[in-house]
Amino acid sequence: MPEKFKTFLWIILHNSLPTNHLRARRGFATSDVCPRCNTFSDSISHLFRECNKAKELWRHIPFSHLLRGDTDTPIQEWISLNMRSNRNIKLNTDGCWYESNGIGGFGGLLRNHLGDWIMG
Ligand SMILES: [Zn+2]
Repeated sequence: MPEKFKTFLWIILHNSLPTNHLRARRGFATSDVCPRCNTFSDSISHLFRECNKAKELWRHIPFSHLLRGDTDTPIQEWISLNMRSNRNIKLNTDGCWYESNGIGGFGGLLRNHLGDWIMG
């Protein structure tokens, strides 16, 4: 697992991701409201699972049905639960963009925990 991903998970698991909820609690923001939906408190759980924008994103991810737990599961427990799962899927992506003509592209593929190709 890449170090930057481990660091990101550590930040989430230690409730240190600078969401508006955390920033407002520490006096760095005047509001804890989610900047995406402008409705609910911008907690980590809201950011990744509860916000309508997050739900919309999850609906477009073909393997989201493999995730364990639901929105009632505390976010740290939800992450741990899915990290321990032997159903982990690896997503490899790449892309490029030519500034001169504004044309770009991207692609990706999914592999299961054994490295076998799934799609992409
Ligand atoms: Zn939101």
